[in-house]
Amino acid sequence: MSMVKENVVYMDNNATTRVAPEVVSEMMPYLTDFYGNPSSMHTFGGQVGQALKTARKRVADLLGADPEEITFTSCGTESDSTAILSALQAYPDKRHIITTRVEHPAVKNLCDTLDTLTGHKHRITRLKVDPEGMLNLEEYEAALSEDTAIVSVMWANNETGVIFPIAEMARMAKERGILFHTDAVQAVGKIPINLKELDVDFLSLSGHKLHAPKGVGVLYVKRGTIFTPFLTGGHQERGRRGGTENVASIVGLGQACLLVAEKMTEENTRVKMLRDKLEDGLLATVPKSLLNGHKTERLPNTCNISFEYVEGEAILLHMNKHNICASSGSACTSGSLEPSHVLRAMGVPFTAAHGSIRFSLSIYNTEEEIDFVLEKMPAIIESLRQMSPFWPGD
Ligand SMILES: *Cc1c(COP(=O)(O)O)cnc(C)c1O
Repeated sequence: MSMVKENVVYMDNNATTRVAPEVVSEMMPYLTDFYGNPSSMHTFGGQVGQALKTARKRVADLLGADPEEITFTSCGTESDSTAILSALQAYPDKRHIITTRVEHPAVKNLCDTLDTLTGHKHRITRLKVDPEGMLNLEEYEAALSEDTAIVSVMWANNETGVIFPIAEMARMAKERGILFHTDAVQAVGKIPINLKELDVDFLSLSGHKLHAPKGVGVLYVKRGTIFTPFLTGGHQERGRRGGTENVASIVGLGQACLLVAEKMTEENTRVKMLRDKLEDGLLATVPKSLLNGHKTERLPNTCNISFEYVEGEAILLHMNKHNICASSGSACTSGSLEPSHVLRAMGVPFTAAHGSIRFSLSIYNTEEEIDFVLEKMPAIIESLRQMSPFWPGD
């Protein structure tokens, strides 16, 4: 198989990120020489247990948590499922869940199946968002009830980067004795998080969104929060998650968190500068282009732009010819192009929702890459519009 890597302009970091070279080197010994089982009694295994301990501490430090509050899982999706299902088991009499209309499929589809598969035993409130992708806290407050088992609201949206007011929402749930989960997969590493100051009971993160490998995640469970495991088995993770630990990836995730902790503010300032240059440049040079999502309450790396009267997938194909990687907000399902549930929830007009492109940057992007994309995009959009039957002209 021939693989393409050289000269790729990678702006799809909300889909997955490059594993940092420092992470790879930290992992290597645990893929080669130190293969012991961390639960074994011998010193050979025990030293692997020490590596897990270090990784746990590094993750905890980044989040302002205690190491005992960190449980390693296989991915962000597992963490999300574990938190929500645990809460439902903790309160078998409570059958109401509050979430939003813009969650990642990891939460959205779980709630959808709970809703239907249990014969509507669960009542799900899916909070609306406004055209900028923001929630209405009055609607949220009115939805909180005695029957609510858990609130699950993402910290930052993967498609638009819009940030929700998690501190305030968690406090409002706590005041009513309701458990609060946040899918922080996109937030960790991009904005500061200090769980000691928050009423968040559960938080999910995923390694591959912050320069660690795929297949490792974390569920934070606040001390004292009632918890039921999702995977019952051995006594790994203090009985919270059975299954022999994915040692090398966990070590890698620890290193990734350490890297973030050392230079988050500095790097995110640089990434935001690049993102703003890209965004301002595209909006200025491409007619009928619109930003999706709140202008400021947004992750520093994400920019979602609609190019009206063209198809996102067609744009991506043309970008791909120049080795530019991004995502579109429409997915081709069963032959029809459906705009994403996120853009639909925001009420983005039909002509704009179809032509949306998400650019998501990382610390590895350069100004030269931004200039390259800014040079290519106007011509790509212009050529597609000339072929579009909907294009009304400039
Ligand atoms: C990627 C992502 C997930 C899923 O994480 P996996 O580790 O791929 O399972 C969940 N939520 C959000 C917001 C994401 O961006």
